[in-house]
Amino acid sequence: MRLISLPNFFCSVALLLASGLATSQNSALGPLQAFTDARIILGNGDIIEQGSLLIRNGVILELGPTSDMEIPTSATQHQLTGKTVIPALVNTHAHLGWEAYGDWGSQYFTGENLIDHLYRHAYYGVGTIISTGSDKEEIARRVKLEQLKGNIGGARYHLSPGMGSPGGGPNPRFTDDPGYWGVHPITDPEQAKRKVAELAAAGNSIAKIWVDARDIRRGAQVKLTPEIYGAVLEEAVNQDMRIIAHAVTLQDHKLLISLGNRRFIHMPYDMPVDDEYLQMLRENNVFIVPTLGMITKGEPYYVPAFQDPFFFDQAPASVLDRLNSNYRPPAIRSPAAQQRSAMLASNLLRIRDHVILGTDAGAVGDFFGFADHVELSLFVRMGMTPMEALIAGTSRAAKAFGLDNVGELAAGKAADFIILNANPLENINNTREIAEVYLRGQRIDREQLRSTWTQERQ
Ligand SMILES: [Zn+2]
Repeated sequence: MRLISLPNFFCSVALLLASGLATSQNSALGPLQAFTDARIILGNGDIIEQGSLLIRNGVILELGPTSDMEIPTSATQHQLTGKTVIPALVNTHAHLGWEAYGDWGSQYFTGENLIDHLYRHAYYGVGTIISTGSDKEEIARRVKLEQLKGNIGGARYHLSPGMGSPGGGPNPRFTDDPGYWGVHPITDPEQAKRKVAELAAAGNSIAKIWVDARDIRRGAQVKLTPEIYGAVLEEAVNQDMRIIAHAVTLQDHKLLISLGNRRFIHMPYDMPVDDEYLQMLRENNVFIVPTLGMITKGEPYYVPAFQDPFFFDQAPASVLDRLNSNYRPPAIRSPAAQQRSAMLASNLLRIRDHVILGTDAGAVGDFFGFADHVELSLFVRMGMTPMEALIAGTSRAAKAFGLDNVGELAAGKAADFIILNANPLENINNTREIAEVYLRGQRIDREQLRSTWTQERQ
């Protein structure tokens, strides 16, 4: 798909959406659609056991127990007895544009590939995606604008430009790439504030910072200092910009919170979290993306994507062959590694009320959309309940970034949802039992996408 030009891609996207658009032209208000008699998991912790949804123009008009609703006969009816409806997922940490399914690198960061990745997420029921600190911003903004204008579908795309110490930033896989374009360097508090203002003026409402000693190990002169990131956090408030910080130690988390940071990529990996930290999380309403998929690859239960039908159904044989031949089974875990896993699981459970979904897909060999379902099942494997995992993957993730219209099913919110054949509260792996995905009130043509993706590239 990356071989075709952007306008051509718009054409194929237009074809995919043609049925929805054709019917909506009949009325300025658009067609009314009713989804009736499903179990509806709202995303905020509530369930309606036999509920219905009425949608129009991409928005939920009404939602409630079927017995309390009057379904207009003019509405297109979707009878969902036995099905479960959940909000489309909200992923707050991935890296779009670099993945080429079998190869990877900066040369793949094109509009076509970025759009493809939005559709990959949509296919799996991810309705909103925040790409964190690795997007080619000129291309990314153009794609984002086209999506806002309605010319592109797929998951709702948010970029978050990255700021860091000169020479620092994302993991070395990105920074070692000869085509890597770099972070926005911030070198002193005043310059950092100007940078935040500049990014806000360019239309960004989210940005990322890296606070990690690994920056020094690979050439940055300093780890980002509290003076500098404090200035970023201060100016972000003035600019109504939301900062997400990459940080991996308990001490950095505490320092960042004390200076106003409210969102983290990664949980503390270095030591057990303590009561002081938990109190800080509660008092400041902090959100944390644990990204468990990244740190559980050596676990005995880990299944590589190419062995999982939920992934390989939508990949051509050549991609699976490459993944298979590049695969090195993880080493047998040492007692120290096992101890660390136990500590991470216990940390996760202690911060469970702050956890939000993010996958790091597109950076470390995890695949878009597929990885979201893996992450939800890891939450549960580590001891969260299925309902907690769903909240983390929907309403709380949206709230963390002020994305008010997604992540929850309620009147007035976006008609972004997944229809499941089985109940994820009984088994979290049932999020994989996807019957249909609707984004903006339109059905995603999953069969069409799958047939495009499973064709071999020439
Ligand atoms: Zn990442």
